[in-house]
Amino acid sequence: MSEITKRIVIQDKDAPKEEELREAAAILARGDLVAFPTETVYGLGANALDEEAAKKIYAAKGRPSDNPLIAHVARIEDVSDLVREIPEAGKKLMDAFWPGPLTLIFPKKDIVPYGTTGGLNTVAVRMPSHPTARLLIALAGVPIAAPSANTSGKPSPTTADHVMQDMNGKIDMVVDGGEVEIGVESTIVDVSSKIPTLLRPGAITMEMLEEVLGEVAVDPVILGPVKEGVRPKAPGMKYRHYAPKAEMTLVEEASVEEMVKKIQELAKEKQREGFRVGILCTDESLQAYPSDMVVKSIGKREREETVAHNLFAVLREFDDAGVDCIFSESFPKDHMGQAIMNRLSKAAGYHIVRG
Ligand code: AMP
Ligand code: MG
Repeated sequence: MSEITKRIVIQDKDAPKEEELREAAAILARGDLVAFPTETVYGLGANALDEEAAKKIYAAKGRPSDNPLIAHVARIEDVSDLVREIPEAGKKLMDAFWPGPLTLIFPKKDIVPYGTTGGLNTVAVRMPSHPTARLLIALAGVPIAAPSANTSGKPSPTTADHVMQDMNGKIDMVVDGGEVEIGVESTIVDVSSKIPTLLRPGAITMEMLEEVLGEVAVDPVILGPVKEGVRPKAPGMKYRHYAPKAEMTLVEEASVEEMVKKIQELAKEKQREGFRVGILCTDESLQAYPSDMVVKSIGKREREETVAHNLFAVLREFDDAGVDCIFSESFPKDHMGQAIMNRLSKAAGYHIVRG
């Protein structure tokens, strides 16, 4: 690995050219690390079948080694190389949502090393829709393990600059495809269990899954803190995530008006105590907060995909602004709101004030 991370910029992210990605593919094929854009967040890629390469991911991220990686494939046909069987629910979901922001858990074949699956007998697989990601994986010629390309515990990267903030000097290359589209990580569904189970919410929502499958179970860790003695089905869900440096409080009230009022009160109190206060709000409420606080809009409450899109970037901006504490608005927990509230609750370390 070189000391400096090379950055290549894709000219047209909807139509990447082979020659732009050849060097990145060669780095992956020889067992080293390349960060690249997907439709969800930037991934930190390595050969998923090479245990030594997977180890490099854990080292670069500072990620606990029991937190398994997702194997990304370029074509549906490639899934059968990795998994022992594709249950009916898996087939239906692949038909409905692949390529796209949906990861499925299957029983693994021996070819997938335990170093990739964190010791589990199952493997997580996704076929991304992002043209650059797909072409890069195809050129590398192997499935690519690609967790979010951030330092473990920090907000996931949604731009190549975010990747560089965390990974400069630790990986060989970042492929810069501009800002990602969705902004939160893939939905994860375990189809290896009797009843398909949602392990992590994302842009493929619970409602969309139910429409295809009928019954879907939900791993209870999705919206609450992991209780002692309870093991989340996705091992990664037990770790504190996305944490900004400041202490963050998520405020829930019966109505938006009451929530804004509560945040105004809590924020003033903290300011009086001498703290530098940040407020995470929406376009609709931006004017309601004092201008001598660090007030940042995360997007439009009426269009939750904008909130997901900006979420991690705004958390990083609060770090740069050097605030001591952040009060955040909350969102309804259905549709895309489930993924948004999962990420915000984790960012707040489940520090939630309810009216
Ligand atoms: P990231 O790579 O950062 O998007 O995180 C991957 C997520 O997928 C983590 O929460 C993992 O725990 C989860 N995951 C990966 N493989 C498996 C698996 N075989 N079973 C359950 N969860 C998994
Ligand atoms: Mg991650």
